[in-house]
Amino acid sequence: MTAYTAKRLPRQTGAAGWNAILPPQAPLPVLDHDLTADVTIIGGGFAGLSAARRLHQLDPSLKVALLEAGRFAESSAGRNSGFMIDLPHDLASNNYAGSGLEADRAAIALNRKAISFATEVAEDCALPQEMFDPAGKINAAATRAGDRHNRDFAAHLERLGEPHQLLSQQDMQERTGSPHYTSGLYAPGTVMIQPAAYIRALSAHLAGQISVFENTPATEFEKQADGWLVSTPKGRISTARVVLANNGHLESFGFYQRRLMHICLYASMTERLTPEQIKRLGGAPRWSVTPADPMGTSVRRISGSYGDRILIRTCSSFHPAIETSDMRLRNAGWVHDRKFKERFPHLGDVRMEHRWAGMLCLSRNGSAAFGELDQGVYSACCQNGLGIARGTLQGMGIAELVLQGGSEIASHFLAQPMPPKLPPEPFASLGANTFLMWKEWRSGKE
Ligand SMILES: Cc1cc2nc3c(=O)[nH]c(=O)nc-3n(C[C@H](O)[C@H](O)[C@H](O)COP(=O)(O)OP(=O)(O)OC[C@H]3O[C@@H](n4cnc5c(N)ncnc54)[C@H](O)[C@@H]3O)c2cc1C
Repeated sequence: MTAYTAKRLPRQTGAAGWNAILPPQAPLPVLDHDLTADVTIIGGGFAGLSAARRLHQLDPSLKVALLEAGRFAESSAGRNSGFMIDLPHDLASNNYAGSGLEADRAAIALNRKAISFATEVAEDCALPQEMFDPAGKINAAATRAGDRHNRDFAAHLERLGEPHQLLSQQDMQERTGSPHYTSGLYAPGTVMIQPAAYIRALSAHLAGQISVFENTPATEFEKQADGWLVSTPKGRISTARVVLANNGHLESFGFYQRRLMHICLYASMTERLTPEQIKRLGGAPRWSVTPADPMGTSVRRISGSYGDRILIRTCSSFHPAIETSDMRLRNAGWVHDRKFKERFPHLGDVRMEHRWAGMLCLSRNGSAAFGELDQGVYSACCQNGLGIARGTLQGMGIAELVLQGGSEIASHFLAQPMPPKLPPEPFASLGANTFLMWKEWRSGKE
């Protein structure tokens, strides 16, 4: 009988700051008995939780089980910067613009479906604005090349008929309090989320509708006469269908071998700013900037029940073993401190309280790992860096594929070509890490 065994399980580096600034979370159960289900979802990030919600919407009588290896919101789903982006966001380009107008229009329409779905989640879970904020985002430039990227991207948005506003150096300083930025490009469609709050709320909400388990890694699933048997350390699930929503760890079960790129990103978050520091900083209480050069530094200013803080995200590294090291996190922290000082020279007394790393999964051609992999085994993985919107979308699409045999969203992902193979090791790691270092160096002050 066919069996797929997990060669490795997720291991996180540093505590997810977004989760750490929230009050303690009521635990959800560990699977400690045997169970039967119609569909078992492996992975409780954006894709897994969205798949569960969509399955339940389509058929409330369906028995759905969802397994999360760790605690909810401790994985990348709670470690990201919280930009749920509607516009093209091609990380391989100079300015995020995609390859063509029609393809970009289709991608925007799909991203907005994901945003509508998440907006309903936020309403059902009564998430306050500080945790789900349709505020838009700014592409911030700090060099002449960055200004040019912004103008090029603005021209692309003009052709797409998408609203946007170019901001001057003075506008940027008024909004952010930072003298660092030379221009900005504001677009209103991005929703800024508190990712850990969103994931916690959605997992808790689903726990009232389906069987949701945390600290319950799927270690193997084996073909049976009438479906699959999913094993976890303390219990097993007999299930008709399995949905893999474990992003890069899809490869840990033997699928898409050497076709997925496992990239680690690093972030730091300040301690709560004091009223005096807030005054000294100036600017608006909440704003969010992505860098004009995709390899630059993202910054968020947040304000809410968890205090006024600044998040800074930069540095990346390639790890085929899907985990990084404490040493790399420490090195990234030094870069974060330097980038923070460059942007906020007037906040020299502000310290970082949380630092963390998180994995994301890319393919060389930007394709997802989506569809039916074996009879009754489905995948909704590889979000190519835009996992809040695309993970949500893949989750919706896989549920529609499982229950309805297809949909507009499923067709979009199914039409994508197979991700090409990576070069063998050690060439892939050497090549990718050198490329990332060069791109980061080239992004300079961005
Ligand atoms: C620092 C950082 C900043 C980022 N910023 C952004 C951003 O601003 N916007 C954006 O769109 N994206 C961002 N991303 C990327 C985004 O976080 C990911 O693309 C997204 O989390 C992918 O969603 P997912 O549901 O596919 O996978 P994940 O969120 O990784 O969820 C997969 C889940 O599967 C679980 N799992 C794995 N193996 C097993 C197993 N065997 N059994 C059970 N469970 C298992 C994992 O624990 C995990 O919870 C960022 C990522 C990082 C690290």
